[in-house]
Amino acid sequence: MEAVGQLTGGLAHDFNNLLAGISGSLELMQTRMQQGRFNDVERYMAAAQGAAKRAAALTHRLLAFSRRQTLDPKPTNVNRLVADMQELVQRTVGPAIPIEVVGTSGIWTVLVDPPQLENALLNLCINARDAMPEGGRITIETANKWMDDRAARQHDMPEGQYLSLSVTDTGTGMSPEVVARVFEPFFTTKPLGQGTGLGLSMIYGFVQQSGGQVRIYSELGKGTTVCLYLPRHYGQADEDAGPTNLATLPRS
Ligand code: ADP
Repeated sequence: MEAVGQLTGGLAHDFNNLLAGISGSLELMQTRMQQGRFNDVERYMAAAQGAAKRAAALTHRLLAFSRRQTLDPKPTNVNRLVADMQELVQRTVGPAIPIEVVGTSGIWTVLVDPPQLENALLNLCINARDAMPEGGRITIETANKWMDDRAARQHDMPEGQYLSLSVTDTGTGMSPEVVARVFEPFFTTKPLGQGTGLGLSMIYGFVQQSGGQVRIYSELGKGTTVCLYLPRHYGQADEDAGPTNLATLPRS
C-alpha cells in the first residue's frame, strides 16, 4: 500500500520525536556517569526505555496496518449493497441526521470485496456525521460515470467507465492542508480517543487494490464529498447482477 510505504508527515514526525527523546536521555545518562553522579541515571534510563517502547508500539501498529489486506472480490451491485446498509448506517449516525440515497437504475457492476465496501461506506458516513456537530444531512449517491479524456483529466484519473459511490455532507469542510493529509495513516484532527486516523487511509488502500480511485471535494464551511470511483466489471456477472431501480428502495 503506497500510502503506508511513504511513511510521510505525522507518523515519521512522531517516530522522530521518540528517537530524539531516547538519544537525549542517553546523552544525559552519559554526562551524569562521567560526572560520577549516578543518582539520576536510573530515571534517564527509564525515560529512554519508555520512549523505545512507544516507538516499538508505533511500528507494530504500522506493520499490522501495512500488511496487504486480503480481498475476496465478487461482482457487486452497489445499489443493492447501499440499500442493505441503509438501516445500519442510519442507526449508527443517529436519528438527528437524515440520510438521503440517490441512485440510478442500470447501475454498472463492480468487482469488489463487499464487506470492505460496506466498511468504507459506514466509515464515510461516520466521518460525515462527525463533521456536522450542529446537524445537517448526508447524501449517498451512486452513478455510472464515463470518464472520457476531458473528465479523466479534470478528475486526475485514468480514462474508463466507473461506478461512483459518493458520500456528501453539509458539515465543516476541510482546509486544503487537511485534504492533503487525510490519506496518511494515523492522521486525525479528532480529539484524543475519538479518531484513529485510519479510516480514510484504509479506504484509500482498499479502493486502490480494487483498481479504483478516491477523490475528495471539500469546501470549508460548506461540506465535503468523498467519492469512490470503482472500475466497471464486464462479463457474465454483469447480467446476473441485473439493474436495481433505487426508486423502489426504502428511503429515510
Ligand atoms: P478519523 O476519522 O479517525 O480521524 P480518517 O482517516 O477517517 O480518520 O479521517 C482523517 C481526518 O480527515 C479526520 O480527522 C478529519 O479531520 C478529516 N475528515 C474526514 N472526513 C471528513 C469530512 N467528511 N468532513 C470534514 N473532515 C473530514
